[in-house]
Amino acid sequence: MDHSRHINRAAEILKSSSHTVAFTGAGISVESGIPPFRGENGLWSRYDPTVLDIHYFLKHPAHSWQVIKEIFYDFFGKARPNPAHFVLAEMERRNLLQSIITQNIDHLHQQAGSRRVIEFHGTSHTLRCMRCNRQFLVEQINLDELPPSCSSCGGLLKPDFVFFGEPIPEPARSDSFNEAAQAEVMLVIGSTGEIMPASMLPSMAGEKGATIIEVNVEPSNFSNSITDLFLQGKAAGILKELAQNLALSL
Ligand code: NAD
Repeated sequence: MDHSRHINRAAEILKSSSHTVAFTGAGISVESGIPPFRGENGLWSRYDPTVLDIHYFLKHPAHSWQVIKEIFYDFFGKARPNPAHFVLAEMERRNLLQSIITQNIDHLHQQAGSRRVIEFHGTSHTLRCMRCNRQFLVEQINLDELPPSCSSCGGLLKPDFVFFGEPIPEPARSDSFNEAAQAEVMLVIGSTGEIMPASMLPSMAGEKGATIIEVNVEPSNFSNSITDLFLQGKAAGILKELAQNLALSL
């Protein structure tokens, strides 16, 4: 099948589905200027992932926070949604998409207008006090003095995303598994399929009979196992082509 036939086929599948769930990874935000963690230009080629280990963070909060601020707030903070995020938001408005399960912590789906977003790995958008559990929007916190502390009790603040060594937060975990179980179609965008337990979600959807449509610049762990239709290319371009076939206005 050539590329445009693949796109037409995907659009037909999406139109006839009564429950479509998108599953997104770092790849969907690459065209917003946020590099993935893995690979040649990945963030882990420049930074040591140990700073995101919860045990290291608790022992060396000032050092962890210096790197966290640089990656997730100075840098991620300036990123804006790209057409791939906007197409998903429009699909939801047109009832062609029921939810998004994202592994990303960048808040770009919400910024693009998506409403039903399950953040499997939490978010960089809020911080939480490790002592009294009070939550803050990142805009409320001065990150010039690190590590930041809680204005109520003085406890250490931690970003609300999942660190290495931490469990997947509830209700995101249960909601994600429920959505994956209900999916008639799962649209997997920009994910290696290497991150557990997130990668279990498309596999579970596939096992329960969902059609898996995958968008990625290169084959992933999913491509040769559970993917039914592989759309090769960058997320923004492919999603724009899909939007055209679905007659969505952006
Ligand atoms: P990942 O599983 O998220 O993989 C990234 C995938 O994106 C790769 O398969 C790559 O081929 C693909 N890709 C790259 N550019 C693309 C494009 N323009 N269009 C479509 N696909 C593209 O792996 P990771 O980056 O190692 O991330 C590990 C974990 O950290 C994941 O949970 C991820 O979501 C999270 N993370 C989040 C962000 C973010 O919030 N933006 C950034 C980095 C990592």
